[in-house]
Amino acid sequence: GYYSHRVALPARGFVGGKVPLGLKRKGLRIVVTGGAGFVGSHLVDRLIARGDSVIVVDNFFTGRKENVMHHFGNPNFELIRHDVVEPLLLEVDQIYHLACPASPVHYKFNPVKTIKTNVVGTLNMLGLAKRIGARFLLTSTSEVYGDPLQHPQVETYWGNVNPIGVRSCYDEGKRTAETLTMDYHRGAQVEVRIARIFNTYGPRMCIDDGRVVSNFVAQALRKEPMTVYGDGKQTRSFQYVSDLVEGLMRLMEGEHVGPFNLGNPGEFTMLELAKVVQETIDPNARIEFRPNTEDDPHKRKPDITKAKELLGWEPKVSLRHGLPLMVSDFRKRIFGDHAGSDA
Ligand code: NAD
Ligand code: UDP
Ligand code: UDP
Repeated sequence: GYYSHRVALPARGFVGGKVPLGLKRKGLRIVVTGGAGFVGSHLVDRLIARGDSVIVVDNFFTGRKENVMHHFGNPNFELIRHDVVEPLLLEVDQIYHLACPASPVHYKFNPVKTIKTNVVGTLNMLGLAKRIGARFLLTSTSEVYGDPLQHPQVETYWGNVNPIGVRSCYDEGKRTAETLTMDYHRGAQVEVRIARIFNTYGPRMCIDDGRVVSNFVAQALRKEPMTVYGDGKQTRSFQYVSDLVEGLMRLMEGEHVGPFNLGNPGEFTMLELAKVVQETIDPNARIEFRPNTEDDPHKRKPDITKAKELLGWEPKVSLRHGLPLMVSDFRKRIFGDHAGSDA
């Protein structure tokens, strides 16, 4: 049965992951929903390396087996094809709930499904956490701030979100997911954590997922013009994936519910980003202007004071250092392995 493969004791006594000297830390049993996706697969790598047993739950909408295939055959790794909109029975110590498409192109593809994933999917994972007494971490988003009227964004800001727009399935879906998370915390004493993630990039991003970093990098590599939407003066703050994973793990292991902004405060216009891509890949890469999408937020930059103070976390990898790491992965995936050597 479910209890017989129990491999670990809850490490609740060891707050912050700090195990007394001489005592070997017992592995935890951890579910990562959306673990075959971009962020999830990097998180899984870190958890497995730490000695935990990981169960990935993913419906492969935007995730890929290739992202976790290197763990196949490891007895500490399990992959379940499952849609979180359906109930799920498991016994674990922690739940990292990431399942949800993150790129605007993907989450707008079937907006009602995006809402179901955020609302029903999150409800199911909270119901699971309640039943088994697991700690639950929600990956929310900077999009809960909408087109922000406060800059940079602090966690206490309530946001400026259009409830009936084309991005609402995601923004409002995540806002509801946060609400559900807090209500299970207050009403059912579930131990919860909320991360508000700002734009993140790195290896394993879907090459054609439509997000700006993956688009510019793939376009520059393919000698296609980089598509700048609108006037290119809108800003985003780009975080390298390893920094995010470190923040998520500190948040899960720490004592604070959050919400916490997890992002890199380095702010760039899309034109500045295009320039960094030119410097990294091809100084001759061209830029082409395209009409912007509806409801596009004008600015976005995290205030990370709270995470610095309470989690002892801040990003370490700048855009200029992180981008080349992503470029060599994209080069290999676009042109094949032989192209990796000159990356
Ligand atoms: P991703 O699209 O690469 O990964 C999402 C994963 O969830 C995929 O593997 C997908 O197949 C899976 N999934 C989607 N719907 C599902 C469902 N109904 N049931 C089971 N699995 C499902 O995206 P990502 O960038 O890795 O994002 C991970 C999480 O982080 C998401 O919750 C996203 O909202 C959040 N986030 C990401 C960013 C970012 O910049 N990457 C920013 C803010 C928030
Ligand atoms: N749920 C689940 N796995 C569990 C426990 C619950 O998927 O181990 C789902 C359950 O199907 C329900 C949701 O989580 O749809 C909320 O569960 P809860 O027990 O909080 O509410 P209730 O079932 O009483 O409505
Ligand atoms: N963007 C762009 N060119 C692209 C894709 C996106 O200029 O090829 C812009 C987009 O209009 C937005 C910013 O880049 O202002 C970030 O878009 P993305 O889809 O990456 O993330 P999000 O809007 O969710 O922050």
